[in-house]
Amino acid sequence: MLAVNPHYLSLQKSYLFTDIARKVQAVREADPGRRIISLGIGDVTKPLVPAVVEALRKASLEMGEAEGFRGYGPEHGYAFLREALARDYRELGVKLDIDEIFIGDGAKSDIGNFQELFAEDAVVAITDPVYPVYVDSNAMAGRAGLPVDGGRFSKLVYLPCTKENGFVPDFPRTAPDIVYLCCPNNPTGTALDRSALEAWVTYARMHGCLILFDAAYEAYVTEPGIPRSIYEIDGAREVAVEFRSYSKTAGFTGLRCSCTVVPMELALPDGRGWKVGLNGLWNRRQCTKYNGCPYIVQRAAEAVHTPEGRRQVQAVVAGYLDNASTLVSSLRELGYEVFGGVNAPYIWTATPHGMDSWSFFDLLLQQAQLVCTPGRGFGFAGEGYVRLTAFGTPEDTIEAVARMKAL
Ligand code: PLP
Repeated sequence: MLAVNPHYLSLQKSYLFTDIARKVQAVREADPGRRIISLGIGDVTKPLVPAVVEALRKASLEMGEAEGFRGYGPEHGYAFLREALARDYRELGVKLDIDEIFIGDGAKSDIGNFQELFAEDAVVAITDPVYPVYVDSNAMAGRAGLPVDGGRFSKLVYLPCTKENGFVPDFPRTAPDIVYLCCPNNPTGTALDRSALEAWVTYARMHGCLILFDAAYEAYVTEPGIPRSIYEIDGAREVAVEFRSYSKTAGFTGLRCSCTVVPMELALPDGRGWKVGLNGLWNRRQCTKYNGCPYIVQRAAEAVHTPEGRRQVQAVVAGYLDNASTLVSSLRELGYEVFGGVNAPYIWTATPHGMDSWSFFDLLLQQAQLVCTPGRGFGFAGEGYVRLTAFGTPEDTIEAVARMKAL
């Protein structure tokens, strides 16, 4: 008899943000007069920049003309966008062939789907706290094992990122096959500097592991010693796949566009004594299951790489980083211990008086009508922290601080 994929049953019952939304809704219903400020979910609030809107308009009109109409596009993505990305990478000193760049409809789906290329028994390491998609997508594939010990998965290797290790994951005693690194990091808002990233690339090369590098927040890097791409590190092409997103870079959370870089050097054993290139396998996967990001969206993404578009999106990112800076300095003044917020739009805030993260979440929601994200929702090492985002409006950010002060 047909049964469901049993691995789905090992997933936690509801997604973190669903739990939060439920609690927020309850407070809203209990007192509809109170305005709730959300610095919880990581969605942007500023509209698309004019260069992007103009590109969308132009591409939409093109699609309405016989000569301009496009049907199915190349699964890899249009060359105009891959070339624009390759030019951007070149500015970082990174040389990529455009066939190494795949356009997708979001880093969430790219990252979630990429694990399909690996054997079911591959050993996966994730940082703790972590962006939950790495965990859940591997759990769905049966690679995470069973939840034990309060939600930890039996087969995953957890790499705690704590203030004690400066939020830099230590190397596991036994090398995993795959390690997910997110830099700048969601949720801690911290970033790996060049030497930390070099050490990880060296480790991966020594132990034959593959790094899946999530650079969704690279646009937020402000400090000179922080690489924006893992390929800025020598030798990374042989050990790393990189994911980028237009979501937080250019406000594409509702438009959907991303890129995955799969260098030609990456190859894994096929179990029959040969090696198979990951670039070809990912291409095969995309050609079979994906028909490409919409033409008009790719034109919009291309506009982000023009001098005008770039100036405009950088101004938006700078605005979010101003919010981050307001949160960091004000919370420190209030006596909170905070991390991040310099190279990332997230502020990782230690809860006061040893409160657990859900209790502090409840306190902020009930007494300040302020929504954050409990750190525990990102993993065990997230206990004792909450995540605040810099994606609110400047007014809401200032108001949020005032409410925390009044607590
Ligand atoms: N990676 C990280 C670390 C994220 O925080 C997010 C979104 O919040 C994503 C990937 C997903 O980005 P996208 O909107 O491109 O799917």
